[in-house]
Order: sequence, then C-alpha cells, then structure tokens
Amino acid sequence: MLYEKLPGGRVRCHVCQWRCLVNPGKLGVCRMRVNRDGALHVLNYAEVSSMAVDHIEKKPLFHFFPGTYAFSLGTWGCNFHCKDCQNWEISCTDIPPGSRRLPPEREIELARRQDCRGISWTYNEPAIWFEYTLDSAKLARDNHLYTVYVTNGYATPEALDTIGPWLDAWRVDIKGFTDDVYRQLARIPHWRGILDVARRAKEKWNMHVEVVTNIIPTLNDDDEQLRSIAGWIRDDLGELTPWHVTRFHPLHEFAHLAATPVATLEKAYRIGKKTGLRFVYLGNVPGHEYENTVCYSCGNLAVGRVGYDTRVVGLDGSRCGSCGADLNFRT
Ligand SMILES: [Zn+2]
Repeated sequence: MLYEKLPGGRVRCHVCQWRCLVNPGKLGVCRMRVNRDGALHVLNYAEVSSMAVDHIEKKPLFHFFPGTYAFSLGTWGCNFHCKDCQNWEISCTDIPPGSRRLPPEREIELARRQDCRGISWTYNEPAIWFEYTLDSAKLARDNHLYTVYVTNGYATPEALDTIGPWLDAWRVDIKGFTDDVYRQLARIPHWRGILDVARRAKEKWNMHVEVVTNIIPTLNDDDEQLRSIAGWIRDDLGELTPWHVTRFHPLHEFAHLAATPVATLEKAYRIGKKTGLRFVYLGNVPGHEYENTVCYSCGNLAVGRVGYDTRVVGLDGSRCGSCGADLNFRT
C-alpha cells in the first residue's frame, strides 16, 4: 500500500517519512518492503516477533482505559535504529526462520480469549507492518476492542489518514527537540514531521495522544531541550496531554552511559509542570509519587499507581470524581 510507481521500475514508498526510493530488487530502510519488478511488496505481514498480555500502563498509556490489559504485538525490523533501543534483538534484524504468523482473525481471537480490552502494536514501529495493523484495526473495531500505536511517530500523514478511522490512541516518542538529538540518537535527519503527524492524530482523528521522552544523560537532559518539548506539547496537543519522562537504562549502543538519576527526571517533571502541562509522569521508577494522577484543580487522587498496579479511585468518566475538572481520560 501507499507507494507510487516511477520510471525504470523504481518505486517510492509513502508509508513512513523516509519516503524511500527503492530500485528493483532492493529493500527500503525498514528492510521489510521490497521492490519486485516495479511493485512494492511487504515481507512481514502477520509475522510476529513478540506477543504478550500487557498492562496498558506499560505502553505507557496512563489516561486510556486505566487498569486494562492490551494484547501487545511486535514484528521484525524497524525504520529507526535508535542507539538506546530496548528491543534491538527484534528491531535490528531480518525475519528469522521459524517466525510465527498470526493472521488478524487469530490475533483478535487471542485478544478476546485472554480478556484484553484492546490491541497494542508495540515493541518496534507499527507502521513497518502497516497493512497488518490496518486489517487488524478494522477487525478490532468490529469486536469492540480498542487499538493503540506505540510509535516513533514517523508514519506519513497519508498512512495516518488511512488507518485514522480505526485507531484510538497514538502513543508517540518525542526523543528530543533538536536536529542534533534525532541525528545522534536515531540517525534521523528530518524529524519535525513527527510533530505534525502527532498533532494531526489528535486534531483530525480525535485520537488519544500521550507523549514519552526517554531521558538520556548528556543527550537530551538539558533544560532547554526539555522546555522545548513541554512547550510544544502544551501549544500543539494541549495542556491536558500526558507527558511521560522515563528513566534510561544503559544498553545497546549506549551501554557506556549511566542510568538517568531520579533527580534529573524530577527536574523534567518540574519543567513540564512549570510550562503548564497538567500531567507529567515519571517512568521506570516504580513507587515514585509522580506515577499518580492527581487532579490539577482540587488535588484529589484520581488514579493511584505503583508500577503497573493501578487503582482508579477518584475518577468519573473523563473527569475528576471530586470537583468535575476535565482530566482527559478515555474509559
Ligand atoms: Zn478535582
């Protein structure tokens, strides 16, 4: 889907913002789309690398069906190759022999049988098996299951608009706010389209949007960078959009860096709040008080969390159970 044929048997892929120009016999950057005789074929349709029943809080999504389980699936490969990738064994590889195929019908059946409220495409970039997530999302809607992309945000507006009617949540990484960070971290030269597509997901398709920034010492932990991200969320997505600042642990190509000090995450929290964001959360610090949702208006505890243990205690639909303030929840 979403490619154009060009002279000389070449094609241009429009699924993600690389917009790869693919010569006959060659692959795109994701290595999951191949040009065969002037037609672009996807290699990883229904090829599952990992699947699990996860707490929705693990994505992390804190304001979206809190306390529910999402059937979570990833495929092979990725269109980013991030130096801090937690899942590099599946994202920096081709499809191995013996990979499992899970057709959409079977995926939905497994989700229902395991008492999941929805489906989450996660672990690597969902857009790289775009056709599979699209077919699955339509079936999920028919079966009253929610649908989530845990995404680097690099899908094109055309891809977003194609799946938009069937996608409920856009959990997007904003890895930094300079060309330098995106180049160093993910080797992405043009990243600002990620911002436009995230805003489009919210404005055009009314998706629930939450933002994650994995804070990496010396890379994106400076005040200026954090202020810029928070300011963009406030202005483009709205002050009620949750921002998760998560703790980096040394691994993959960043094994030489230290884990993020909790004090740095608390600094990011303060910057977010001072910028005007109503909901800033610490991630990968289980038991920290900044995992909780507290009403910005009256101070009522709406949702208590300790790691993935979630207690909805003061919520009335999307609103504060005590004062009625809009807390931007989907339930
Ligand atoms: Zn309140």
